[in-house]
Amino acid sequence: MSRREELAAGLAATRARLDTACRDAGRAPAEVTLLPVTKFFPASDVALLQELGCTDFGENREQEAAAKAAELSDARFHMLGHIQRNKAKSVARWAAMVHSVDSIRLTDALERGAAAALDQGDRSAPLDVLVQISLDGDPARGGVPRADLEALVTAIAAAPSLRLRGVMGVPPLEADPERAFDELAGLWRGLRADHPAADVFSAGMSGDLELAVKLGSTCVRVGTAILGQRPLISHP
Ligand SMILES: *Cc1c(COP(=O)(O)O)cnc(C)c1O
Repeated sequence: MSRREELAAGLAATRARLDTACRDAGRAPAEVTLLPVTKFFPASDVALLQELGCTDFGENREQEAAAKAAELSDARFHMLGHIQRNKAKSVARWAAMVHSVDSIRLTDALERGAAAALDQGDRSAPLDVLVQISLDGDPARGGVPRADLEALVTAIAAAPSLRLRGVMGVPPLEADPERAFDELAGLWRGLRADHPAADVFSAGMSGDLELAVKLGSTCVRVGTAILGQRPLISHP
C-alpha cells in the first residue's frame, strides 16, 4: 500500500466511526469536525491529507508546526500542546486556532503576538482560542483548574486580538472518561451562555471519540487512527 492509500484508509475508517458515533448520539455528522493530528509525521503526510480533502491539522510542538506551516502555506494548523511563553509570538503567527490556552500569562503573550501579527500582515483575523480545562488540576498535563477558569475567560474575552471560541479537555488519567467529558461539556455550556461565539467543544481522540461525541464534542482530534503509530523522531 502506498502512504496515500494508507492515509485514505485511516481517514475513511475514522470518518465511518465518527458517522456511526453521531448517528448513535442522534447528532448530525456536520456538527462534529474531524481534526487530523499530524504531530511527529512529515509535512508530506499533511500534503497527502490535503489531497484527500482535509484542510485543518493539529500539532503540539511549536518548532515542528512552524516549519510545516512555512512549507504548506495553504494548510491551517491548530496548536494543541503546551506553549512556552517565549514561543507565543511565533504560534500567534502560524496558528489558525490554539486549543491549549490555560493561563492569563499565556493569554497576554498570545495577545501581544497576535496584535503584532495583525499589524505586520502575518494574520488577517484575530486568533481563535480555546480554554484548555484541567479537571484534576495536574499541572504536568496542562489546562486551567476550574477555580481559575472564570478569571481566564474574562482575560481572553477582553483581549482584542484573540477570539474566545470554546473549550478543550482531556479526561484525567484516573477518571471515568464519560463523567469527565460530561463535566467538561457542562463547563462549556456555562461558558457559551455568556459567550455565544464559544461554540467549539474540542474533546475526543483516537481511543475515545465515540464517548466524546455522545457527550457533545464538536471537534475530535485524531492522530493514531488516521496516521498510524507516531514515529519516535518528529519531522518538520
Ligand atoms: C496527540 C494528541 C491527540 C491525538 O491523539 P491520538 O490518540 O493519536 O488520536 C489529540 N489531542 C492532543 C492534545 C494531542 O496532543
